[in-house]
Parts: sequence; structure tokens; C-alpha cells
Amino acid sequence: MKNYALIGRRLSHSYSQRHFEELFLRLGLTDHSYTLHEMESLDSLRRWVADEQINGFNVTVPFKQTIIPLLDELSPEAKAIGAVNCVVVNDGRLIGHNTDAPAFRQTIQNSAFKIQHSFILGTGGAARAVAYALGQLGIPYAFVSRTPENHENAIGYSQLSTLNFQLPTLIVNATPVGMYPDTDRTPFPLPTTHCPLPTLFLYDLTYNPSPTLLMRQAAALGAKTKDGLEMLRLQADLSWQIWQQN
Ligand code: NAP
Repeated sequence: MKNYALIGRRLSHSYSQRHFEELFLRLGLTDHSYTLHEMESLDSLRRWVADEQINGFNVTVPFKQTIIPLLDELSPEAKAIGAVNCVVVNDGRLIGHNTDAPAFRQTIQNSAFKIQHSFILGTGGAARAVAYALGQLGIPYAFVSRTPENHENAIGYSQLSTLNFQLPTLIVNATPVGMYPDTDRTPFPLPTTHCPLPTLFLYDLTYNPSPTLLMRQAAALGAKTKDGLEMLRLQADLSWQIWQQN
């Protein structure tokens, strides 16, 4: 039996279990399982891995950064990013990887939008992976935070709202705001005046729901929009490749 899982604080929004169960069915892997495991904290992480004989797991909100001190080893990419979303269990050793960054990078390469500048909403694990990928692609970025004074290269939401996005601009929502079940919220108010924003690409890492309220508001202003489903599938497939090598 091979046991895989997703850990996070709240997981009712997640499509990961469905994704892996479909994969295992397609591959005829009847002795593989992928379960959702909600945790309030990481205190019992190692006991859970041992008790459930976990072979590998994904990590989501809010543990992508706080899990790092609990791991035995990090891939060079996870170390550079400072966030982990995929862990391999190898002889009881926990090895952290980041598949969010290459997955996000691939989705940007797949999109036809020419980006000259970008803003990343949030400063958590997903935001760091997005920043790393944008850096690799040579796309300038700034973070947008509720507490910009606590972060390098960050502006506040009030400053973002004053910009007119004349250059082709990417905004990535890497906050959980707007995700199921809080679907009637947005991380910041897009201008509601009748100024079209065809130079804006609003990429929401959320995939449940899709479109999010933020995506709907952006689309109404003429912006290009994208949800997080393609990235979810790509990061899951990259996790699977890593688990298979062990
Ligand atoms: P996280 O580590 O908890 O970080 C989220 C960041 O969002 C925080 O650092 C915070 O930045 C900001 N934030 C949190 N609550 C907020 C609020 N109420 N209002 C405004 N900003 C808030 O979470 P994460 O792991 O980075 O994940 C973020 C989102 O991306 C989640 O919805 C996750 O599901 C999604 N995601 C999707 C994929 C995919 O494959 N599609 C992959 C990774 C993540 P400040 O404190 O600086 O404001």
C-alpha cells in the first residue's frame, strides 16, 4: 500500500484528492490512496506520518513555510523559495520540495499575455513560489501586503488601488481571500469606474470557486482572467513525479 495525503488547516475547498484518485484509477494503482488531513498545527506531524505510514504528502494553507524547520532536508528550489508544498518520506526522513513554482512558471509560459510588470497579492508560501517563478522568467514584481512595512519589495493595498495599469500588468491573487467558503470577498477593490483594463491579466490561484468574485470584477472591466486549476494539476503531477522517484 502507498499512502499519500494533503495537509492543511481547512481542506473542504480542495480538489487534490479527486485529482489523485482519478490518476490512480487511470494507472490501475488500486493499492494507492490520497487522503485529506486537516491539522490545527504541525505538532503531531511526525507521529501522523509514522502512524499512517505516509509515503508522501502535499502541504497547503497555512503550513508551507512553518513546516520547513520540521523537515530533514530541502530541495535546492524549496530552500531558495522558502516554502514547501510537497514532501517525500524516505526511510522516515522528510524531504521538502516546491512544485508550485515550476507549475506556475509553466502556466505563465502557456499564456499568450505579454507581461511587463506584476503584483503578487499576499506574502505567504504560494506568493513566494510565484515570485521565484516570475524572477526566473525575468518579469519584474512587487508583493502587495496588509503589512507592507514588514516585507521587502512590498506595497499596500491602498497604493495598488491608485494604479491605472497602463503597462501590461499581471496581478496574481496568492491570498486565500475569495476561496470557498468565503466566496463573496475580494482581497482589494478593483476600480469600479468605467475605465476598461485590457492591459490587465488577473490570475487568481483559487480554483474553487471559478471564477472568483475578483476574476468576475476584472473580466467585467475587460481584463484577461485565469483561475488556479491548471496550476493545481501541474503541481500535483510534478509531486507525483517526485514521489515515484523514491
Ligand atoms: P498562506 O501561506 O497562508 O499565505 C497567504 C497570504 O495571504 C498571507 O501571507 C497574507 O499576506 C495574505 N492573507 C492571508 N489572509 C488574508 C486576508 N484575510 N486578507 C488579505 N490577505 C490575506 O497561504 P498560501 O499557502 O500561500 O496559499 C494562498 C492561496 O493560494 C490559497 O488560496 C491556496 O489555496 C492558493 N494556492 C493555489 C495553488 C494552485 O495550485 N492553484 C497553489 C498554491 C496555493 P499578508 O499578511 O502579507 O497580507
